[in-house]
Amino acid sequence: MPVRPVVALAGGVGAARFLEGLVQAIPASDLTVIVNTGDDRDFFGLRVCPDLDIVTYTLAGRVRRDTGWGLEGDTFQALDALRGLRDDAWFQLGDRDLATHIHRSARLAEGAGLAEVTAEIAERFGVGVELLPMTEDPAPTVVVRNDGRRTHFEEYLVRDGSPDDVASVDLSQAERAEPAPGVIEAIRGARTLLLCPSNPVVSIGPIRAVRGVEAELQRRGDAVAVSPIVGGRPVKGPADRLLRAQGTEVSARGVAGLYAGIASGLVIDQADAGQAGEIESLGLRVSVLDTLMTNPAIARSVAEAALALAETS
Ligand code: GDP
Repeated sequence: MPVRPVVALAGGVGAARFLEGLVQAIPASDLTVIVNTGDDRDFFGLRVCPDLDIVTYTLAGRVRRDTGWGLEGDTFQALDALRGLRDDAWFQLGDRDLATHIHRSARLAEGAGLAEVTAEIAERFGVGVELLPMTEDPAPTVVVRNDGRRTHFEEYLVRDGSPDDVASVDLSQAERAEPAPGVIEAIRGARTLLLCPSNPVVSIGPIRAVRGVEAELQRRGDAVAVSPIVGGRPVKGPADRLLRAQGTEVSARGVAGLYAGIASGLVIDQADAGQAGEIESLGLRVSVLDTLMTNPAIARSVAEAALALAETS
């Protein structure tokens, strides 16, 4: 399979919004997306891959718009029935969404790899972008709480409502994971490498932790990132709590510090224009614009700004 010219590292909702803009700016067939699987978890014997599904559903034009995850118009009758049978049905799984997880689990049980199954599902959803899981190995992200409890990322995020009691994030299982087939080749061969506006700790962090990925990103050193922090806050999700837990300032400048070793450009929001000079002094070129992707036209302009920044390196 030939390597595609543009490669993006992605988490879930923030990434998917950006990718929707990116495929307005370049052909879908030019793009490979390497997706975080640190959020993956088995529920009731089914393998659920939240970030892969969010990206697939969004690029297929079928994502539920109000949440950014799940399928538009889905119902939750199976989940309601499960709640009558057991007490641990806290993860939102829609009826149609369940079909994806049933199919994925069946294919994995037949011996298919996650990369193969991901490609099959993307094709059936009519997605022309190549989607690669970061790894086929188990690589769950563990959130260590202040009281010492070790919780899977989805338990922290969804079951417990992403509270402030984060002591640290443990990516050690991603560190032991091998990259999925095609991941290293995609990064090495890409003309343009992008880091989506995703959680730097629990979405981009696990991808960087997979064996060999960080070395390849550092060797290139030319990724262009979009800051997921706008005006000192995440647009959604617990990035602020997770950044603070690892001692990183919750700001575009803080994100720049995390990416300085692998990136040469950062797209920041106009609300953070005052930090541009400091970010440039870290060795990053900066583009400033409205990055709140409230509609596909804004997502496209953010994608075009990232591509333009990559061209000037
Ligand atoms: P998750 O796994 O679904 O949380 O997805 P990601 O890691 O891809 O996305 C979470 C990050 O995306 C959060 O830190 C948000 O701040 C960021 N994000 C979401 N929407 C936007 C947006 O419209 N603009 C920018 N700049 N960041 C966004």
